[in-house]
Amino acid sequence: MSDCLFCKIAEKEVEAEVVYEDEEIVAFKDINPAAPVHILIIPRKHFDSLVDVQKEDAELIGKLHLAANHLAGVYEIKERGFRVVINCGQEGGQAIAHLHLHLLGGKPLNHNIAEGRGV
Ligand code: AMP
Ligand code: ZN
Repeated sequence: MSDCLFCKIAEKEVEAEVVYEDEEIVAFKDINPAAPVHILIIPRKHFDSLVDVQKEDAELIGKLHLAANHLAGVYEIKERGFRVVINCGQEGGQAIAHLHLHLLGGKPLNHNIAEGRGV
């Protein structure tokens, strides 16, 4: 996926404020934050979206959530609460075609999760 922005961020070909990385996962600050804490968590493996995830990827998808849990601790939003969002496809509001979790927190978030990018 040579033309994928998030693959390029994972490969350090494009700069981003990386806050966590391991062999399978990279997390970086959203360039246009919708909340005081807004981190994107991606697998290094390219998936266009959640639609492309297969059974054999279940462990990796679990690890993305564990990374969200870890980062919620690092950014001290575990007790106050936070939100994890995956936008999928056009009507789901997905702009970047590389699977990513949004970790959002640091302010009270809108209860209507179907509006406003989940914020
Ligand atoms: P989505 O709408 O779920 O596809 O989310 C894409 C997110 O990527 C948006 O919140 C953008 O602000 C964010 N974004 C786009 N380009 C960059 C970038 N170069 N570095 C960090 N975040 C980005
Ligand atoms: Zn990609």
